[in-house]
Amino acid sequence: MRKLPFLIVAGSFTAVVAAGAGAWHFFGPAGAQTSAKADKGEITTASIDTRAPKSNSTAPAEPPPRVQAVAAAPAAAPMPAAPAVEKRPAIAKPVCNNPNALGVSRTVQIDTTGGPGLGLSQYRDYDFLQPGEVVLTFDDGPWPVTTPAVLAALSAQCVQAVFFPIGKHATWHPAVLKQVIAAGHTVGSHTWSHKNLASRPAQEATDEIEKGISAVSMMAGTPIAPFFRFPQLRQTPELKAHLAERNIATFSIDIDSQDFKIHKPDALVTSVMTQLKKKGKGIILLHDLHKWSAAAVPEILNQLKAGGYKVVFIRAKDTLATLPDYDAMVAAEVQPVKTSNARPISNVIQTVD
Ligand SMILES: [Zn+2]
Repeated sequence: MRKLPFLIVAGSFTAVVAAGAGAWHFFGPAGAQTSAKADKGEITTASIDTRAPKSNSTAPAEPPPRVQAVAAAPAAAPMPAAPAVEKRPAIAKPVCNNPNALGVSRTVQIDTTGGPGLGLSQYRDYDFLQPGEVVLTFDDGPWPVTTPAVLAALSAQCVQAVFFPIGKHATWHPAVLKQVIAAGHTVGSHTWSHKNLASRPAQEATDEIEKGISAVSMMAGTPIAPFFRFPQLRQTPELKAHLAERNIATFSIDIDSQDFKIHKPDALVTSVMTQLKKKGKGIILLHDLHKWSAAAVPEILNQLKAGGYKVVFIRAKDTLATLPDYDAMVAAEVQPVKTSNARPISNVIQTVD
């Protein structure tokens, strides 16, 4: 497969040894400051195999601007006529029945050509948020009960978010993923099984990325956004180059809710709002997998509104094409488990007394 030159972004840069590397790999100057904290991220979801259902269910040197504001609320500004073919399917804007809702302040569209990085903790090229603006992102779903609870909270406040589902979770709970799609949120991907890709051989790590994309796309029933987030934010230059070649944007974060270790909703709200007050804006990381996170979302939204913060919704200019080989791998894994349940019930179970 053709390889692009590495995209070397200014700032300190740690050479990466993929195998066994425990270190973080940041492209930006903020890396050294954030690595210690971020290193603890997502420990509760590092291994997902134990979560399997019990039943048989199965930086470019001189890049052009890529972040483009396309709409502003409350006015339903029509999209300007695009000269190029719009590959992203049109999604009707959800109806908002709450006049006092927080709402989406503006929608930005990302041209992911060349694989830009977003989120100032690792990427500093695209500082597109204005003071007071936040982006809501949710990782590690889809998950029963908790993901629908997050969706309900977002809907109640008429806000939209970006979701990064795990491939395996999508195959276990496709109906939940479809709810996320139906609600008009942006859906990217977050690997097949949430491994720390920086500690895996390059081919295995690439497979994790692509299989995750195929699984989420297949279960969503529609092409997804070319948006990706590394588990635990652990990347390597090789994988970043792969994403660049695939024109997939990498999402980092600005504000870590720390819901991997804060399990009380009230404390989680305080964690988010305290960090937000300090930074003034940013991409917020939460996990729709956790019940405490889902429980905290309504109050986080309340406090965002009370604090005068504005929610920015991010969507992609184009959709992401899956790779057929990985589609086949996923399809092979989600085949229904063969059982003897195909026989009519009367042939199997009879009242005899
Ligand atoms: Zn994750």
